[in-house]
Amino acid sequence: MTPPEFLSRFDSIVQKLPMYEPRPGQRRMAEAVHTAVADGLHAIVEAGTGSGKSFAYMVPLLDVEGPFVISTGTIALQEQLLGKDIPFIQDASGKRFQVALAKGRGNYLCIQKLWEADRRLPDADPLRPELDRIKALLSGNGTPDGQPWDGDVAALPFVPTPQLWEEIASDSDDCLGNRCEFYEQSPHRVVRSQQAHAHLIIANHALYFADLASGGGILPSHKAVIFDEAHHVPQAATRAFTGSVGRYSITKLMQKVRKRIGMVPDDVVFNLVGLESRLMEWVMRPDRAQFRLYPDAVFVEIAEGILDNLRVLRSWMERDVALGNGIDDPELAKKAPLHRQRLIAQLDSLTARWEYFGSFADNTLAERVNWVEVDRHRGNFHLKSAPLDVAPSLKEHLWDQRSGVCVSATLGVDGDFTYFKQQIGLTDSIDLETPSPFDYQKQATLYVPRYLPEPNAPEFAPHARQAIRKILDSTQGRAFVLFTSYKAMHAAFTQLWPQLPYPAKKQGDLPRAQLIDWFKTTPHAVLFATSSFWEGVDVPGEALSCVIIDRLPFSVPDDPVVQAHVERLKMQGKDWFREYTLPEAIIRLKQGFGRLIRTSTDRGLVAILDNRLFTKNYGAAILKALPDCPTVRDLEGFEL
Ligand code: SF4
Repeated sequence: MTPPEFLSRFDSIVQKLPMYEPRPGQRRMAEAVHTAVADGLHAIVEAGTGSGKSFAYMVPLLDVEGPFVISTGTIALQEQLLGKDIPFIQDASGKRFQVALAKGRGNYLCIQKLWEADRRLPDADPLRPELDRIKALLSGNGTPDGQPWDGDVAALPFVPTPQLWEEIASDSDDCLGNRCEFYEQSPHRVVRSQQAHAHLIIANHALYFADLASGGGILPSHKAVIFDEAHHVPQAATRAFTGSVGRYSITKLMQKVRKRIGMVPDDVVFNLVGLESRLMEWVMRPDRAQFRLYPDAVFVEIAEGILDNLRVLRSWMERDVALGNGIDDPELAKKAPLHRQRLIAQLDSLTARWEYFGSFADNTLAERVNWVEVDRHRGNFHLKSAPLDVAPSLKEHLWDQRSGVCVSATLGVDGDFTYFKQQIGLTDSIDLETPSPFDYQKQATLYVPRYLPEPNAPEFAPHARQAIRKILDSTQGRAFVLFTSYKAMHAAFTQLWPQLPYPAKKQGDLPRAQLIDWFKTTPHAVLFATSSFWEGVDVPGEALSCVIIDRLPFSVPDDPVVQAHVERLKMQGKDWFREYTLPEAIIRLKQGFGRLIRTSTDRGLVAILDNRLFTKNYGAAILKALPDCPTVRDLEGFEL
């Protein structure tokens, strides 16, 4: 299909939209995506809010041979694609194509594990009634249509107890594959084979990069991938390539061995439990939720002890379990050879991670960052290790293998995608910036209060609260008040809530979706929230007429990953602030700003309570990157 033919087809589809209005930016984006996927190229498109991005990247996929994966950052966007946009495109184009939603395999039942749990759970166990109900549903007893339940947890008529679901959910570590006696009817396998026939596979970034990091096998092979909400790609990829061991990694593995083989050598259990307790003490000594991991002599000794015992466990499994020594239960004895290989593979993976954590001082700091995350309330911790640069891995495993398109409202700084492209290892791409169709000059005002102290000053918080109160009065509530930390959010809410004449809630008062519903349906509502509400929230109309941002969202300096990035840039003699901290903050701030104007009739005020926009030399760069709207320093005479 030639470009003019494609554009005429594109127009004929979007013109059927009920509120159709021509959007030149959307057309340019569709053309760029069509060229990229048809010619095996890459594209990066920053498309301002309201550009109609999803149509611009999905219509080009209609006439090109797939399959294609569309990867999103949020469930809300997946729901919009599957529930609204794809059915519309199918109707408007008259073209039917198969669509599959790819979810993590933990969403599906493992029949083998159900069988194991059924054998193990006594009749008096509190989880027994729920387990029996799941078994009945799987046979079609108790389902609304009399059809057997398909094994997807979302289709259960109740929410299963997490402890039970964890026991019976599908898991790549435990799966016996085609040697499993339930392989043909295995829910996860059935879904995978349906996906193999789909033209479009909808996934999320976590699943997409888990597939990439594990060398494939989670998603079907595909011709191209479209990343919507692509500003999350660097973090999602980093998470997928992050290795970790948790407080209970060893205990859980020993429980599995006991469940499947029937026993674990007593001395190994005794030693490993003791070593885990010593590690717990070591981890809890610094009174911090997260800290960089620098192994001292005690840590190395514990790590070596753990490794010795893991090796003993492995040779026991190689030798005694292979011979069937000591396995009394005939059912377990029959299946032990099948499970043994899977368990040894898990043991090897855990051993490799402990080998790394016990000796990573040999690695150069420039490659990975290693740290500890501690959850004191739950008595839990994780040792983590993340690459500081995922660009080489993405280049090799993603961009060199297939066509890719990155789309978001916030990818660059003033039309320059250099920072984003460096992060993701993409060098050759069609780059396009299409402005929002909204008239920000008429629809939005940016307010930066003139007399506020700088955010790091001790007197900032009380002054900021006064400013928030004044702003809320001028917009009569109808506002999101967004903070860069929970602490600041709680403090502001506690102080302001009793005096506000508007209904107000804070993040955490209700589950997220209910909180947004409450906000949309409550006149003059005010919502206090943190970074997770800076994006993925769509409140068109008057309900959201004001977004207040407490301070510029610079990364937290005590975050180990941020620290390591800054150290590395300093070591390389680079300007860490301009090259890392500033572009990250600008992209986040653009997201927060983007909550305000969602349709061409929305109007509103964005208030940023951070005077550094005018007192620091980097302020001008930030202001330039925000939507072009009038800026005021006081609210005198301001009207919505
Ligand atoms: S194939 Fe794997 S996931 Fe499916 S039932 Fe068997 S072991 Fe479980």
